[in-house]
Amino acid sequence: MFIGHFAVGFASKKFAPRTSLAALISAALFLDILWPVFLLAGWEQVRIDPGNTRFTPLDLAYYPWSHSLLASIIWATGFALVYHFFARYWPGTLAVWVGVVSHWILDWISHRPDMPLYPGSARYGLGLWNSVAGTLIVELLMFAIAIGLYVATTRARDRIGRYAFLAYVLLLLFLYIGDRFSPPPSSVAEIAWPGIAASLILVPWAWWFDHHRALRPEV
Ligand SMILES: [Zn+2]
Repeated sequence: MFIGHFAVGFASKKFAPRTSLAALISAALFLDILWPVFLLAGWEQVRIDPGNTRFTPLDLAYYPWSHSLLASIIWATGFALVYHFFARYWPGTLAVWVGVVSHWILDWISHRPDMPLYPGSARYGLGLWNSVAGTLIVELLMFAIAIGLYVATTRARDRIGRYAFLAYVLLLLFLYIGDRFSPPPSSVAEIAWPGIAASLILVPWAWWFDHHRALRPEV
């Protein structure tokens, strides 16, 4: 999943309105923030295998440190502890914990059976990615609902709050749809570096426009 994870971040704002969207999105993406780093370190493996599922050319061969259920719970707890230490805001602490673990659940729904419960365990996955239409419908619907919740919770204070937010949403949709039409990557580095770059751009960008939006008075 790609924008489905962003959807969790946006939707979380409704439940933890005082938490920065950057923290909520980082939590929902967290396993995918770790993954390219772990790939480059050689701790996890991916194979390029066009047709692996209809939605992705990647065979997610080995990634228990970023993407097992047990690892996701440990990362979630670490993330929530660090968040709580700085913010002391329980709704946010809970939202980031749920956000990190939600990543495993959404990937389990999307992927073919490649998601371990713990390092070395059997692997599971419901395989939504075997259907391109099904994947698009589920993810776009989640994204639309989440953007609706975010807009119902916050309003722009200025132009940055409006247009940087709008550009962000459009960029995510563009990346998501554009990925359908781009050729498969040719190396692991070609998967990992764009992933790292995306995190480094998309997380601060979320902080930026969220900072220029205010909570609606009724929230
Ligand atoms: Zn993932």
